[in-house]
Amino acid sequence: MITKKIHLDEKDMPKKWYNIIPDMPVAPPPPLNPGTGKPLGPEELAPIFPMSLIEQEMSTENWIDIPEEIMDIYRLWRPTPLFRAYHLEEYLGTPARIYYKYEGASPAGSHKTNTAIAQAYYNKKEGVKRLATETGAGQWGSALSLGCKMLGLECTVYMVKVSYHQKPYRRSMIRTWGSEVIASPSNRTAAGRSILEVTPDSPGTLGIAISEAVEDAVGRDDTKYALGSVLNHVMLHQTIIGQEVRDQLKMVGDKPNVIIGCCGGGSNFAGIAFPFMPDRASGEDIRFIAVEPSSCPTLTKGVYAYDYGDTAKMTPLLPMYTLGHDFVPPGIHAGGLRYHGMSPLVSLLQKEGIVEGRAYPQNPVFEAAITFARVEGFIPAPETAHAVKAVFDEALRCKEEGREEVIVFNFSGHGHFDMAAYDAYLDGDLVDYSYPEEMIAESLKKLPKIDLG
Ligand SMILES: *Cc1c(COP(=O)(O)O)cnc(C)c1O
Repeated sequence: MITKKIHLDEKDMPKKWYNIIPDMPVAPPPPLNPGTGKPLGPEELAPIFPMSLIEQEMSTENWIDIPEEIMDIYRLWRPTPLFRAYHLEEYLGTPARIYYKYEGASPAGSHKTNTAIAQAYYNKKEGVKRLATETGAGQWGSALSLGCKMLGLECTVYMVKVSYHQKPYRRSMIRTWGSEVIASPSNRTAAGRSILEVTPDSPGTLGIAISEAVEDAVGRDDTKYALGSVLNHVMLHQTIIGQEVRDQLKMVGDKPNVIIGCCGGGSNFAGIAFPFMPDRASGEDIRFIAVEPSSCPTLTKGVYAYDYGDTAKMTPLLPMYTLGHDFVPPGIHAGGLRYHGMSPLVSLLQKEGIVEGRAYPQNPVFEAAITFARVEGFIPAPETAHAVKAVFDEALRCKEEGREEVIVFNFSGHGHFDMAAYDAYLDGDLVDYSYPEEMIAESLKKLPKIDLG
């Protein structure tokens, strides 16, 4: 009998998060204060984040204990299963062994719950009563809504307007778990009102929604802000994924040669990849592929520079690959991958040649996703589908080269609330936007002029 899903026992769940910062090949440049251009001190972040998360953001400890209360909630769905994709291997006729880590098992249906629970916990512990956040397609908003309910916090979610209307069921999830959800740009904030004055029918962007949520948090004593990706502490919380994968692969005597994740702000990719990076440094044959949409090609066509995380320039300046803070990507269905920036850690690892960025247009991505659903059963989120496409290409390369490599990818979430996107593909209505070269060039002109060496 062959094992299709590899289960790790609850009692063997990793008890620490892995912090890659001390193991980075070069020290990450610091975030900067947007006003002074000087490195940001922890106290400057205190109006928007609780101190324990700021400490994690800047920590140089390799391992950080996961508090028991978080472990207790994680055990509702963790450890998640690791599947061996036998059907897909057979379908592709590849000698490669393919595994996927099923993060769709969480109550909100994606990996985002891993950091949502942690962020709600640390805010609660420091006496915060309410969180404000943004969400694109709604995965982060729904995950944080759940996290806040479980830890007893209130939560307001600014949801990018186009997704608010396109993804009504994620909006319903946010409300079901007790949070307030507002279409962004909104009249609630100065940032929202200034956009609406110029563009009353603005579909919104993540950059605008972040501005609204930060403004909300700064304006109230009882409220802090939460971000679902990009920042170091978010990457940290996701590393439980890769650590579980390592233990699960050990159970079947395998080691990865290729690790693949889709990349919006970088967190699910970091979560599966970071725990394996020391193996590469010590000489193991292992590659890391980060997959993004060609219409929002941050890693493959962006520049490595200091930029704002949001449109209204309220956030610190982060050193990252960026398409420019006012770049508005085309309305592709993988809403979670429509962000102009990228995790500074993932960015630096690509700059150092350790991470390989790769971009695909949405039609081949959905073609791969549908094939995956037909042979393996599970329906990937449109974001996850980008990773699936790269898995197909890597497995076919192994076939051509006759190599028995081990390919592992992060199945970051299921697509059950994204079926309109599948309909669009099946009806032949999905557009492959050409790479928005002029828009990106225009937007990159507005980068702050700060030398990154
Ligand atoms: C949000 C999301 C992503 C993209 O965000 P990352 O921070 O890059 O992981 C990918 N997949 C799913 C299912 C998501 O919800």
